[in-house]
Amino acid sequence: MQECIFCKIVKKEIPAEIIYEDDNVLAFKDIQPAAPIHLLFIPKKHIPTFFDLQPEDDKIMGEVQRAAAVVAGDLGLAERGFRLVANCMKDAGQLVFHLHYHFLAGRELQWPPG
Ligand code: AMP
Ligand code: ZN
Repeated sequence: MQECIFCKIVKKEIPAEIIYEDDNVLAFKDIQPAAPIHLLFIPKKHIPTFFDLQPEDDKIMGEVQRAAAVVAGDLGLAERGFRLVANCMKDAGQLVFHLHYHFLAGRELQWPPG
């Protein structure tokens, strides 16, 4: 946990372009954007993967998802929409083991992903 890069962003120990913050949620720009708008929405609490979620995290995770909708509205995406996607473990390509949603928007996205 000490080494977790997203925990360091939460604690402002390393810089990030923060787009949204409240008591339980942080959203910041991905450093390697895969779309014109590519944000990461995270719980401030260190939760490595979906498999680590506890019942008491349900509220926090709801807040993370709702924050994405609030930011989408603020960014004028209510009509065009956005994609919220989370990679879990190896086959999905998870690289950072602090649960996060990728928020992708600003272009038509392909489906299914590769
Ligand atoms: P994932 O493969 O789902 O674990 O994605 C991790 C994401 O975190 C990648 O899209 C990275 O570009 C992004 N990332 C890694 N380090 C940072 C950082 N310091 N600031 C912003 N985004 C980061
Ligand atoms: Zn963490």
